[in-house]
Amino acid sequence: MTVEPDSDPVFVGIAQRMVEKDYASALREAADALFASLTAAPKQAGDERRDRTIELLSFVEIAAMGLREQCVPPPEPLPSPEVACSFCGKGRGSVNLVAGPDAFICNECVELCVEIFADQKIAKGQA
Ligand SMILES: [Zn+2]
Repeated sequence: MTVEPDSDPVFVGIAQRMVEKDYASALREAADALFASLTAAPKQAGDERRDRTIELLSFVEIAAMGLREQCVPPPEPLPSPEVACSFCGKGRGSVNLVAGPDAFICNECVELCVEIFADQKIAKGQA
């Protein structure tokens, strides 16, 4: 017996579920068939078994992708955040900003930091 993907009733059933966009059922049926195929006594010749497994895995993959598309809403465009200095809150219009991983700092705050560090050095007698 050879495995004909187009005539295998399991494959036909899974394909039909996918046509209906019932990916959850397709995934479950493919997973069940895959599990059965892998745990059943290896009656089939090695190549047939492998071909069937690969075919079922591709069904699982496709169904999972379809399911994910259905479950995960398309990402909404992020509202363009009001870009502002994370320290003083001034916006891009009034200061120059440098972006860090999760924050922005403006030229005025950088200058302030430079002064603070300079004062600290003086206090420590390093300058
Ligand atoms: Zn600032």
